[in-house]
Amino acid sequence: MPNDATLPEALTCPKCQAQMRIQRYPENDAYRCEGCRGLWLPLMAHEQLEERAEQIDPEQYRGSSGPEPRTLMCPQCEFVPLIRMVDVEQPDLHFESCKECYGRYYDAGEFRQVSEDPSFLERLFGRD
Ligand SMILES: [Zn+2]
Ligand SMILES: [Zn+2]
Repeated sequence: MPNDATLPEALTCPKCQAQMRIQRYPENDAYRCEGCRGLWLPLMAHEQLEERAEQIDPEQYRGSSGPEPRTLMCPQCEFVPLIRMVDVEQPDLHFESCKECYGRYYDAGEFRQVSEDPSFLERLFGRD
């Protein structure tokens, strides 16, 4: 799939409101928050960039610190809340997903954590 030329250079982080800057990779683009180091992965990017998880997301996952903020809003769609996907076996590990644009938000280190444990997604979606 070609890169979506309409992707903006920067988005606002749904978690901390800092700027997320676009990171361009051959397979797809990703956004990295300059504040909390969270990641926004547009449509399909989570699959296409899985091999690069360590490069894209070098942070050490520290788990959730304290109470989670209220519902996060999609940085690409207006007024669309993100849906939290939680791993039943590791309730600490989760990501937020947009049902309109299929983008995903990961906390710092979380994408790498997920990519290193593919069974995470199988447990979520029951894939074989
Ligand atoms: Zn942030
Ligand atoms: Zn969206």
